Amino acid sequence: MKFFKSTSEPVYSKEAIAARVGELAASIEADYGGKQLVLVGVLTGSFIFLADLARELSLDCEIDFIRVESYGEGLVTSGAPRITTLTKLDLTGKEVLVVDEIVDTGLTLRALVDHLSQSGAASVKVAALVDKKTHRRVDVTVDYTGFEIEDGFLVGYGLDAAEKRRNLPAIYLLSDR
Ligand code: 5GP
Ligand code: MG
Repeated sequence: MKFFKSTSEPVYSKEAIAARVGELAASIEADYGGKQLVLVGVLTGSFIFLADLARELSLDCEIDFIRVESYGEGLVTSGAPRITTLTKLDLTGKEVLVVDEIVDTGLTLRALVDHLSQSGAASVKVAALVDKKTHRRVDVTVDYTGFEIEDGFLVGYGLDAAEKRRNLPAIYLLSDR
């Protein structure tokens, strides 16, 4: 895209992401079999990952979103995630798969999984496209991980820098600017 130098190499290319999303979908399908699945996307960052993952899944699923806020416009977490938009669907008795684009300290996901576990869901699992595992401050299980990365602030494919860059088709390091 115009606002990236043409020499910028993505950390994860469009092709690499598409291939990995396909693999994740295959594992999810194998694990859930004929069960009724609800994909719960974490706004806003997961919208592209969820859209691609959902279209790779050939099982019956419902889709909803939840919003958790912790970062504001900064690059580091404020450490106190708040759930600011709840799911519309009744999750009672449902198999819930939280779809998030990136897990860093784990604080956001921890708050979400705790909240969703109290919703009467039959199960709550997590799919995350990118995991910065070494940054974890609280324990949280990611059941389906796309990629693991040590460090760096990523943008593109839903990931933002102050609400911009989400529409980049691949994932880049912000320092590539
Ligand atoms: P956590 O609560 O795990 O520290 O933070 C998770 C959330 O922080 C992610 O869902 C995402 O919104 C944001 N985040 C963490 N790392 C990055 C990153 O490298 N790039 C972007 N754009 N957002 C990130
Ligand atoms: Mg997020």
